[in-house]
Formats: sequence, C-alpha cells, structure tokens
Amino acid sequence: MGKFGEVRGVFVAGCMAAVVLAAFGVHAEEGGGEHPAWDYGDVHGPEHWADIDPAFATCRTGMRQSPIDISGPAARDGAAPSLALDYRAGAATVVNLGHTLQVNVAAGNRLTLGGVDYQLLQFHVHTPSEHSIDGRHSPMEAHLVHRNADGGLAVVGVLIDAGAAGVIDELPLPDAVGGTAELDAALDPSHLLPAARGFHAFEGSLTTPPCSEGVQWIVMRAPATASEETIARITAVLGPTNRPVHPLNGREVLTGE
Ligand SMILES: [Zn+2]
Repeated sequence: MGKFGEVRGVFVAGCMAAVVLAAFGVHAEEGGGEHPAWDYGDVHGPEHWADIDPAFATCRTGMRQSPIDISGPAARDGAAPSLALDYRAGAATVVNLGHTLQVNVAAGNRLTLGGVDYQLLQFHVHTPSEHSIDGRHSPMEAHLVHRNADGGLAVVGVLIDAGAAGVIDELPLPDAVGGTAELDAALDPSHLLPAARGFHAFEGSLTTPPCSEGVQWIVMRAPATASEETIARITAVLGPTNRPVHPLNGREVLTGE
C-alpha cells in the first residue's frame, strides 16, 4: 500500500487522526503513489476528488460540506456558542504545500467554543476565498485550524480583502513546493483577525480531501486586510485554491459577537 495506504489505515482506525493529517496536508505529500494527487484543476479538481480515492467519497456524498455562501436570510441572529480566543506571539514556520501556504505555530494559542477548549495547530490561506458572504468572494481567506482533546476540529475562517498591510504581509514566501521558511520575529495569530469580532458559526467539513465532516466552523463577519501586492504575490504562487461553495442542506448559520 505504501505510505498513502498507511494514511488511509489511520483513517479507518480513527477518523479524527486522519482529519488532522489531512489538515496538515499529509495526503498531498503522500499522493504521488497509486493515486494521482488532488488539485484544483479540471482533471483532478474539486468535481473529481471523490473519484481519486474511495477514502475521499465524502467529498461527493457528504451533506454538510464546506465552504458555503453565507447570505442574509440564512443567517440567524444570536444563538451561536460563546467564542473566546486567547492567542499570543510565538515562533512560526511557513511551509509551501503546493495547494496552500501553511504556517505551523507554537503551542499555547487557545480557542474556547461553547466551553470546549481547542489548541491552534496551524493556519493557511486560500486564493480566492472559499466562503462567500451574500455571494461575494474576497481575494484571500485564512483558515486557523484548532483541535480539541478528543480530536475534534474547529476552524476560524477570515476573509482577507486588499487594503492595509497585515500579518500576511510579514510571511516569507517559499516559492518551491515543499519549501519552508522560519519567521524572523514572533508571530501573534490574533493579528490575523479583524478588529470587529462578530462571527458566523455553523457545522461543516474540511474543504480539502477527504472532506471529513464534523468540523465546527467560525467565519468572522468582518474581513481582515493584506496589501494588494502580497495578495497578488501569493495568488501567483498558489493559483486558484478555493473549493466551490456547497448547499446548506438544512444547516443553520448562527451569528455571535
Ligand atoms: Zn483551508
């Protein structure tokens, strides 16, 4: 089976472990064996992910898939679980995974959602944004991926528009796939967030194979910003890396402050 088969074996034994591996992009690095690697192109892109590997079947059959369009009538005020973010400056490493730029952060960044604690593992970006608000996409979206003690995932999505320079502008950018770069200065993930802390909350999935469900999604209502030059530079390196939006299928989008 090779290394890719081992990853699928983990999926059978404990799906949340595989979710975390997937969140780290392990599948992409292992995908060169018996299966073609998934990507965002016409042949191995989002419409075909389920055909690449049976372990990706949820990408087609799942009924609670991400991303989604967040539109006014579907968003219900209040009732969202309480959200608290306790982030701090620490060491960080940028990795070019081909399908994303991922920033692995030091331990000690906590999210508390509905009384459950999660630790921030990494954040990464998509160009353009995966979620849309009232049908409008931003040129970039950051995903902050957190895991709780039971292996459950919570992802905070931040839409990023062109504007004032932000944390994204400080990231070194390895041009080669597999390339890594250490940040010279400590990075505070809270600087990724918009000043206004209102958010949307809903259930969804990983937006990349294996598209596993049971992910708690938080999408900040206000966008953050990065310079137009940085957005253009990252877009040029990654190319389009957004999965199309999926139907809500009865899910509720809650709002909170
Ligand atoms: Zn993502």
